[in-house]
Amino acid sequence: MPLDPAGKKVGMYCCGPTVYDTAHIGNWRTFVFCDLVRRFLEFKGYQVTHVMNITDVEDKIIKGVRETKTPLRDYTSRYEAAFFEELKQLNCLTPHHTPHATGHIADILSLIDRLLQRGLAYKAADGSVYFSIEKYRAQGGAYGQLVKLNFDEMRPGERVNADEYAKEAVADFALWKARVPEDGDVFWPSPWGEGRPGWHIECSAMSMKFLGPSFDLHLGGEDLMFPHHEDEIAQSEGAAMQPAGQRFVKYWLHGAHLLVEGRKMSKSLGNFFTVRDLLAKGFTGREIRYLLLTAHYRETFNFTLNGLQGARTALARIDECLSRLIEFWDDSMGHVNVQPHPDDSKLLEQFRDALDDDLNVSKAWGVIFAWIRDLNRAMSAERLSRDRAASALGTWKQLDRLLGLNLQPRSALRMSEAPQGIVPSGFLVDIRGEEEAPEEIKHLLMQRIQARKAKDFKQADWIRDQLKTKGWVIEDTPKGPKLKKL
Ligand SMILES: [Zn+2]
Repeated sequence: MPLDPAGKKVGMYCCGPTVYDTAHIGNWRTFVFCDLVRRFLEFKGYQVTHVMNITDVEDKIIKGVRETKTPLRDYTSRYEAAFFEELKQLNCLTPHHTPHATGHIADILSLIDRLLQRGLAYKAADGSVYFSIEKYRAQGGAYGQLVKLNFDEMRPGERVNADEYAKEAVADFALWKARVPEDGDVFWPSPWGEGRPGWHIECSAMSMKFLGPSFDLHLGGEDLMFPHHEDEIAQSEGAAMQPAGQRFVKYWLHGAHLLVEGRKMSKSLGNFFTVRDLLAKGFTGREIRYLLLTAHYRETFNFTLNGLQGARTALARIDECLSRLIEFWDDSMGHVNVQPHPDDSKLLEQFRDALDDDLNVSKAWGVIFAWIRDLNRAMSAERLSRDRAASALGTWKQLDRLLGLNLQPRSALRMSEAPQGIVPSGFLVDIRGEEEAPEEIKHLLMQRIQARKAKDFKQADWIRDQLKTKGWVIEDTPKGPKLKKL
């Protein structure tokens, strides 16, 4: 049950990317999982507000800025653009808010100030501000809500890391990091001196800013459970802005790790993949998405290139069924109003039940493939009526709203011929972009291909801009350029 008294609105926060590198397939597992959760809630009729932060100031980022001598914004925006491009490739819905840490320094400062006033934070000699776990616990705060912690190892007075010499206790974490020479010009003024925010406080400040001090769902990879999410809870509940009896977050969901070819991903093993790497190998975003969607979020998943081949086969089976349904539906019918067939209603119900069972995706896929098998049998035996085909197509539309796989029938069907309200608008457009484009647009596309062949990239870019002003975008895929209507 959501916190919203009307039971309609759901607030959902997902820890977003740190934009210092290209996200790898393990990161994408988490983002596709977040996308599934959001789509499922929307499928169930909830009105979701989805917030995902962009960590655009952090140790590794500052190192990159220093080493490449690039201004902070230029440095991070490159990785951020790549992230959003890949988010689109994997057909994840764009979150409603994607706040940047650097855009919310004032909110972060006021949260730190509140923690200082409540006696839960202290200023160290160097101007950094730390959160005191000991004081938080002394005030009745529960540290260790998500993981079991050994507090004996967190005794006050210990000094381990030379880097963090100013802390009173090992477990204390920085809310504000005082400026050091290596930071270059990456710093902001604060009442405690120049510096920059810690990573944890940014998520507390931005999640509460957009979703209120108490919200429904917080998602992230399981590697974030500790310390990141524990620290978020401590800061946010320590600030005590929640209504009586409510926590900072009602439900935490953590996506499990991903292995690649049976091993932990690493660049030296050659099993470290980004989305771009996989596209360059000829796989598509929907194949990657499908494979990621076959794994239960709480189980470690072994991502393999063979698995991607399997995804291709499975998707082909779905696309093939869809194509046959369209042939059965027959384009001479014109506009029809078809009542959903009982089998389709049952499918949607079973599918929803499977996902209601802690997002049991294997069960959900089982339901879908059994349904496909039955449809295929009926079609092979010529036992499928046009109405039944139309009803099944309408059901696909609803399923695909949740799966986000852009189901692609083989046969070309012009959208104008699709029965109103039955064939999903949009799912046929992508693949047949070139066929649908007017002559003028196709001509420009050919010109651009030629310009690129001749390595005249200036001309190629100019043509791309021309197409854009005419409402068409070109996507360069491993299989060649694709036209899409804006
Ligand atoms: Zn976070």
